[in-house]
Amino acid sequence: MSAERPDALGAAARIRALAALADDTFDLLVVGAGATGCGTALDAAARGLKVALVDAGDIAGGTSSRSSKLVHGGLRYLQTGDVVLVREALAERELLLTRLAPRLVRPLPFLVPLRHGWDRLYMGAGLTAYDGLARSGLLPGHARLSAAEALEQFPDLRDDTLVGALRYYDAQMDDAHLAVALARTAAGLGVAVATYTAVVSAEAERDADGLRRVAVRDAVGGGEITVAARAVALCVGAWAPEVSGLFCDVGSAAADGEAVGVVRSKGVHLRLPRAAISGTSAIIAPAGASVLFVLPNPTHWLIGTTDTEYAGRPEDVAPEPEDVAYLLERLAEVVTSDVSVDDVTYAFAGVRPLARDTGVGGSTAKVSREHRISEVADGVLAIVGGKWTTYRIMARDLVDTVVEGLGRPAAPCTTDTIALVDARDAEIDALLAEDPALGEPLVDAPGFRRVDVVQAVRHDGAVTLDDVVERRLRLHLELDTVTEAVLADVTRLL
Ligand SMILES: Cc1cc2nc3c(=O)[nH]c(=O)nc-3n(C[C@H](O)[C@H](O)[C@H](O)COP(=O)(O)OP(=O)(O)OC[C@H]3O[C@@H](n4cnc5c(N)ncnc54)[C@H](O)[C@@H]3O)c2cc1C
Repeated sequence: MSAERPDALGAAARIRALAALADDTFDLLVVGAGATGCGTALDAAARGLKVALVDAGDIAGGTSSRSSKLVHGGLRYLQTGDVVLVREALAERELLLTRLAPRLVRPLPFLVPLRHGWDRLYMGAGLTAYDGLARSGLLPGHARLSAAEALEQFPDLRDDTLVGALRYYDAQMDDAHLAVALARTAAGLGVAVATYTAVVSAEAERDADGLRRVAVRDAVGGGEITVAARAVALCVGAWAPEVSGLFCDVGSAAADGEAVGVVRSKGVHLRLPRAAISGTSAIIAPAGASVLFVLPNPTHWLIGTTDTEYAGRPEDVAPEPEDVAYLLERLAEVVTSDVSVDDVTYAFAGVRPLARDTGVGGSTAKVSREHRISEVADGVLAIVGGKWTTYRIMARDLVDTVVEGLGRPAAPCTTDTIALVDARDAEIDALLAEDPALGEPLVDAPGFRRVDVVQAVRHDGAVTLDDVVERRLRLHLELDTVTEAVLADVTRLL
């Protein structure tokens, strides 16, 4: 049997991580293994800190697997004047495409349909600025297309009022896969990574040695562990009010979670089979205060997204019939394809953890996507806002603040030079060499083999059926139908 890689996140690594949580003393406990928490753990470990990373569920089990899966500057944020955010995000896009994750992030052409002559001027100016902010010229700059050229690329584009289109490039990723790559890279640098390990309570004060004790519950093996850490980074996104409240004295101003100032905004996506729409690029089109994305993938289309304030618990968020109807209506304004609710094979919802602006009322689409760090208790920092694309900037800013608080020297941020673990192909080859029978296809899942399940569990941190089906293999996205038989096959392998 091949030796385990130091970055492998399998059952044995989880058990070692839990033992370390109980026995060791950490410089930093990172709570939440979404994009922000995985990026923060990686950044801190790369600076020489001793780090633990815990999540109540799976890596990217929260918002970080329910995004539009775009690594983008965010064209629409130019309209809201967030130029700094767009510039930063474009720089991150280039880094991910080149140095950090060139095989996990790929360029994606977009069309902006133009319905009026003035659209061309207005959108053309926006895209000229977007190209300028990207600076490096890694991806082609925007180009004008005639209506005929646009229809050649996207035959189902609604053409009754089309006067042309602009084409520009952004990038696309598998968000859950990228988060796993971040967590594994962090583990390779010594981070103790424990999923299904929720923070349940914490001491309100640090002890005489400057350590704060935080209780976590192991949802797999049962029982509670007390973790001792000098600093705590709450990267819990939409859960920030509840989790930060655990670190404050009952009755204090911060205990109700108001201190972190998060606005929860719900975003829904629909999945359609690839054959439902004829086109080869993505489309971005205005939709009320927000935009509509029509995003191509080899096996399907993603249509998103809604942007509505959400008052429920983040874990309960789900697509409602009105979300589906809204997206189908917007889609019908853009394409001529005859798509109905019966064509929607899957829908998913996520909660944006937006940093509350002062003075912005009305639509959540208008709330800035910039991030904000706040100290919820001595040595306990919470971060909200930001974008998947800017996880590395968020992590850098957060770890800078942690290091300042620790009051001892640490190396500067180096994550712009650390390539993320990308070992899936090699692992699959090694597993097949050990057991060729793993090359058998999964029942009812064209394109998937048993080895994909085994790799997900042994190396990529999958613990439950959902982890494998929803986030490692993404069967609900990749397949038009997820049958009971394929679920039974995966369960058997687990
Ligand atoms: C619909 C939608 C579309 C989006 N599209 C894009 C896009 O295309 N590109 C882009 O750049 N950004 C996009 N975003 C934004 C992006 O997805 C988020 O900004 C990002 O994923 C937030 O990551 P996070 O790590 O802060 O939060 P999360 O991913 O939610 O992680 C928080 C984690 O904290 C854990 N947690 C909660 N409570 C506890 C506890 N007590 N103990 C331990 N762990 C706990 C949760 O289990 C969760 O895993 C989109 C967002 C939405 C909703």
